[in-house]
Amino acid sequence: MQSGARYWDKLRREFDAWDRLNATATLWWRDDDAEQPVEALERLFHLSESHAAPVAIAVSPALAAPALGTRVRKHSECAVLQHGYAHSNHASAERKKNELGDDRPTQTVTEELRNGFHRMQHLFGDRFVKVMVPPWNRISDTLTAGLYDIGFTGISTYLARKTMLEHKLIRCNSHVDIVDWKAGDRFVGTDRAIRLLVDHLAARRAGEVDPNEPTGLLTHHLRHDEDAWQFIEKLLDYTTRHQIVRWRPAAEIFNQELSIVSP
Ligand SMILES: [Zn+2]
Repeated sequence: MQSGARYWDKLRREFDAWDRLNATATLWWRDDDAEQPVEALERLFHLSESHAAPVAIAVSPALAAPALGTRVRKHSECAVLQHGYAHSNHASAERKKNELGDDRPTQTVTEELRNGFHRMQHLFGDRFVKVMVPPWNRISDTLTAGLYDIGFTGISTYLARKTMLEHKLIRCNSHVDIVDWKAGDRFVGTDRAIRLLVDHLAARRAGEVDPNEPTGLLTHHLRHDEDAWQFIEKLLDYTTRHQIVRWRPAAEIFNQELSIVSP
């Protein structure tokens, strides 16, 4: 653990810098691919509840079990976002995996997303924050442009946003993916996870990226090894006790910001 201490020290120094600016370091937490209430989801919810840290789970409507809706309602800090439709890859073999690319007619995919939207409303009621989280964080611009008409108010992918408003949608991305997908879904390591966190926070502070975009932790509860779980717990322990850090709920990020930009 001794070797890990210097990484945490890096994060402490970054928060100190925010403190000197008298600014609140806002964070948010997105977890992808929930389908049903399984043990790993219970562990995620327990971490969220015990730290009073709100979590937004991204759910593919075609894969969601009705029991997930019942379970979500019992967790006061949980919002639900729409994760594509069925998490199916429709890209041809030589292209990167994509459910929402230009491989199928726009109308077909839009219809699918609209059906999914209605199922999300039915399953999750007011816990559904009308945000599209495209599977593999990929979506074509044509499909993005049609999301508002389906009823979506927000979108979330990966890496720092360029603009907050896009096709009438509020964008708030995630920035700290803690799963190393190329290494058998292992934890990326404390070094890399903290580097991603500090890099985005420092870039916000320097005005190199939008300072108002909360830094997003991205987790996948079904894929976590023990190290990944330990990291989340330590991060929550550390940040929720820190005066200048605030974990923002998705409902606030994607709704309140809208009222700021509306005349
Ligand atoms: Zn996914």
